[in-house]
Amino acid sequence: MKTTDQDTSIKKYTSRTELIEQLTRWHAKCGVAIRQAECVELFKEICARLKKTNGKKVPMAALVQEYNLNDTELFLLLFLATSQLLRLVTPSTCKATALLQTAQTFASSKEVLETLFDGKSVLFSKKILVLSGGLVDIKKNPLLAPPLQTDRPTRRTFNARRVLAELNKYVIGQEEAKKQLVAGIFEHLAKCAQSPNIPFTKNNIFISGPTGCGKTYLCQSLARILKIPFVHADASQYTQTGYTGMSVGNILQPLQALAKGRKLPLSIVFIDEIDKLREGSERWGVSSGNVQAELLRMIESRLFITEDPLSHKTDEWDLSKVLFAVGGAFEKLQVKHADKSVGFTPAGTVRKEALSADDYIDYGMLPEFMGRFSYFVQLRPLAKEDLRQILLNPYNGPISQYEKLLHTSAAIGQELVEQIVNQAYERRLGARGLHQQVGMLFQEQFLQQTVKVCL
Ligand code: ADP
Repeated sequence: MKTTDQDTSIKKYTSRTELIEQLTRWHAKCGVAIRQAECVELFKEICARLKKTNGKKVPMAALVQEYNLNDTELFLLLFLATSQLLRLVTPSTCKATALLQTAQTFASSKEVLETLFDGKSVLFSKKILVLSGGLVDIKKNPLLAPPLQTDRPTRRTFNARRVLAELNKYVIGQEEAKKQLVAGIFEHLAKCAQSPNIPFTKNNIFISGPTGCGKTYLCQSLARILKIPFVHADASQYTQTGYTGMSVGNILQPLQALAKGRKLPLSIVFIDEIDKLREGSERWGVSSGNVQAELLRMIESRLFITEDPLSHKTDEWDLSKVLFAVGGAFEKLQVKHADKSVGFTPAGTVRKEALSADDYIDYGMLPEFMGRFSYFVQLRPLAKEDLRQILLNPYNGPISQYEKLLHTSAAIGQELVEQIVNQAYERRLGARGLHQQVGMLFQEQFLQQTVKVCL
């Protein structure tokens, strides 16, 4: 039996935390921010293993065994299969329990099995069990060769009211912003639903608001609810093409792996920290204004060309289904008008009037950059009541997150709740302040844990 021990280029996973992180990342791939480099690496790893099958059709179980896939890779393989990134040939003889048997045979421990098959897992459904028991058709694996353009698109129906109702469960407050964002994405969906021959202008979204008030969380939750890919990028990491550092085209990498031919999928790309690109500032000797200009090109164009920095090979991508949102704290934005001051102060308390594109231009954003946005969403600082609701929110609130992690239920008294809320409010870190404090509350409990780790 071949093993992959000689193949040192393939990473071994060293801890349960790492495994869980990867599982979580992949499990919620459609809704959670993907760190581009990691995403690409994961694809590469699984592809490297699949390539060794030499184009043969092999049963999933044999693939796992022959190539000695570890737990994470097993999960990734199953995940790719179930999200139809990896095409499977499902013979009529295939049994619904085949995947379970595969996993039971090869997962290294009962604990891993439980992780793979916990109630929340996307793998936990009969249909998926049937699918994943099939044969892997390597030749048709779109990770190795892009599928033919003739692939029929899958149609899905989205309902704005339902999406808004679902968003309300997770994102507390920010009522106006939630509505604007849902309107923005539905305008985009409506445009995507038209015939591809009708050209349309993108309705990109510009989001501002103090740190920790939910700019990223809103976009991320929206993508998760819509079950479309979400990419989170940090604007301050990018530089002008031709200079040292990542070029803005790298932002699209996670989507390229999911592309149908040259067409990137319906998705949301959120570019954070956009205020760090104010004109007049520079990074690695490159003017931030120039980076804004490059971003602008990507945000507005339907077709975008990327260049591989090593081979200098260029690729053209169709971005018509990608909705861009940019966000920033614009902390020092205090625009003085004749008789009023607008914006929010670093203390996050003042917001007398909505900020306009002109205010952002005064701050240092290029007028031509600002001209590419049709939605200006302004998040307000979180009030104490918002923080209290976030803290106690059963849908992914900080307490409920730790309760799930530790399989426990925490009885946190009213007094402690008020204390946490007050401190978070005073520290002006928004809901992030809550997470930090709740984390400290549970630290003791981690000292009681016995954890079995897969090495
Ligand atoms: P930022 O505005 O700096 O992008 P984030 O969106 O990253 O802040 O928020 C940090 C975390 O705080 C989120 O992951 C989320 O858990 C929580 N959070 C922030 N705002 C809200 C909100 N309005 N409702 C619920 N949770 C929130």
